[in-house]
Amino acid sequence: MALIVQKFGGTSVASVERIQAVAKKIKSFKDDGNQVVVSVSAMSGETNRLTALAQEIQKNPSSREMDMLLTTGEQVTISLLSMALHEIGCDAISYTGSQVSITTDSVHGKARIKSIDSSVIVESLEQDKVVVIAGFQGADEEGHITTLGRGGSDTTAVALSAALEADECQIYTDVDGVYTADPRIEPRARRIQSISYEEMLEMASLGSKVLQIRSVEFASKYNVSLRVLSSMVENPIGTLITSEDKIMEEAVISGIAHNKDEAKVSLIGVPDIPGVAYKILKPISKKNIEVDMIVQSVSAREGLTNFAFTVHRSDFKKSISILEKVREDLGAISVQSDDSIVKVSLVGIGMRSHAGIATKMFEVLHKNDINIQMISTSEIKISVAIDEQFLELAVQSLHAAFELEKE
Ligand code: ASP
Ligand code: MG
Repeated sequence: MALIVQKFGGTSVASVERIQAVAKKIKSFKDDGNQVVVSVSAMSGETNRLTALAQEIQKNPSSREMDMLLTTGEQVTISLLSMALHEIGCDAISYTGSQVSITTDSVHGKARIKSIDSSVIVESLEQDKVVVIAGFQGADEEGHITTLGRGGSDTTAVALSAALEADECQIYTDVDGVYTADPRIEPRARRIQSISYEEMLEMASLGSKVLQIRSVEFASKYNVSLRVLSSMVENPIGTLITSEDKIMEEAVISGIAHNKDEAKVSLIGVPDIPGVAYKILKPISKKNIEVDMIVQSVSAREGLTNFAFTVHRSDFKKSISILEKVREDLGAISVQSDDSIVKVSLVGIGMRSHAGIATKMFEVLHKNDINIQMISTSEIKISVAIDEQFLELAVQSLHAAFELEKE
């Protein structure tokens, strides 16, 4: 007998029929002799619908009230799913986050789980029930309802798995796993059988939207084996996300991630003296703008240099106006901006032990006449910023060159 935590996302519970299908799937695991704890999202579109309702009333509603509102979405699905289980003769009980003591900090809208008291869940499991728990929510120490940020029910499932020491955490979604590249861009992309936490974290922060980043961090910290699989197919295998020593495949490169939300801003002709990077980036971070890639060029002539960095496209306009101000203060020549770049990244733990991956990547881009505007690397990834018109070409040619279609 195993203890399995299963999470079903919004599309998997989008209608009565889907909820009934999910109930059948849960029952089959239960009938096989497993203990099953389920965490669900709101029906797809519901969280957005509720947010839009709030917006009609107030532009900046209180974050406490937003959490109170949004958590109703998950409360609908836990009760409907329990009813669907009852209807097919499977005993089940639903709980909200606070009912099973998912205690968080008090940061409404983005709370972090501090602890889970698993006693209520364990008691219900001992009564042979399937336990259905609302994802995405908890309560702070004063009992105020909180939410964990968009996509947060992934984190609920992982946290429950850690607290219950579950054998596996299965995240059912509308894709059947993690792919070597986005299949909409590279049709030959292949499902990855297993991938390390570290690689998955890079993939998630580089733009792969399969899992909430925080859930992967949580899984890595508590060593929870996570499986992403499709709720739409029979007997899915999915992708296992686990610790490095449990990975079977020995791929050098695991996948290619891309991010279309990037924009580049540059300050041209800045005096090359100590403190310049600080003076440029301080007002940017003060406005909570996240900076990703940074390039400072070699001092060209007369002690002047160029300083460029990328930001999220939604922060593009704000960044330009901050830089205009910095340009005046530093006496730089001009501000240049470009919101038509994308970031393409190769990810793989095999890079640590294989030299020449970057060279090969640059060769492929060169052969396809794709200009690299910026480069950044870590131990297990290489990212380049390129013009967005080359996104498909870059992903497809790198996918082919690194033979990612092969098992
Ligand atoms: N319902 C929430 C959202 O749409 C949480 C989740 O689905 O994970 O973000
Ligand atoms: Mg989700």
